[in-house]
Amino acid sequence: MELTKQQIVSWLERCAVMFAEQRDFLTQLDSDIGDGDHGLNMNRGFNKVMEKLPSVADKDIGFILKTTGMTLLASIGGASGPLFGTFFIRAAQSTDAKQSLNIDEVHQMLSDGIKGIEMRGKAEPGDKTMCDVWLAVEDELSQARQQQLSLPQALENCVERANRALNDTILMQAKKGRASYLGERSIGHQDPGATSAKIMMEALYQQVGR
Ligand code: ADP
Ligand code: MG
Ligand code: MG
Repeated sequence: MELTKQQIVSWLERCAVMFAEQRDFLTQLDSDIGDGDHGLNMNRGFNKVMEKLPSVADKDIGFILKTTGMTLLASIGGASGPLFGTFFIRAAQSTDAKQSLNIDEVHQMLSDGIKGIEMRGKAEPGDKTMCDVWLAVEDELSQARQQQLSLPQALENCVERANRALNDTILMQAKKGRASYLGERSIGHQDPGATSAKIMMEALYQQVGR
């Protein structure tokens, strides 16, 4: 099974719907350990992506992802804007000129995006950031490829793993971003950016899920 361009477009549309639905929840999480704008940031960013999508939906996957990244970079702001923006801009690199992606190409796309976030944010595993979810996803996807799982099965495993990784952020002390200013008081709260990363993986799985 391949992930088609139409499914990539639907993925982005689904992200926009989910970030609208989860706006207040994400903002509440960010009020606990940050400045309370994360839900607003993600909702604003993906609303802008929705405005741009119609003009690029007939282009290749790389172009669509690159446009998404540049739009998020310009509209989210804060710490997470450059990180999610970089994710899509990097994800676009290997998908240039492609109209569909097999599992290896989906893995390449996501792992390029995740590497971009790591390079830009310099967060380590356990720092209580979105990287805790992204790196778990990358690991799960590598394993799925080695086991030659189907794309739906691989993405289902990624969502399960993302949920576990997200839950693990609760007990971590933040070492990066605003939450790190709280020191030990950041312990006991789920990380907002990691929650958004999980939402994006859920939205992707929903495009191929049975
Ligand atoms: P801001 O903190 O500027 O208000 P947001 O509230 O939109 O930005 O995003 C906060 C999220 O950004 C955090 O929950 C965390 O997951 C993520 N984040 C912050 N700094 C980093 C970093 N250096 N690397 C990876 N993720 C980070
Ligand atoms: Mg914030
Ligand atoms: Mg902010």
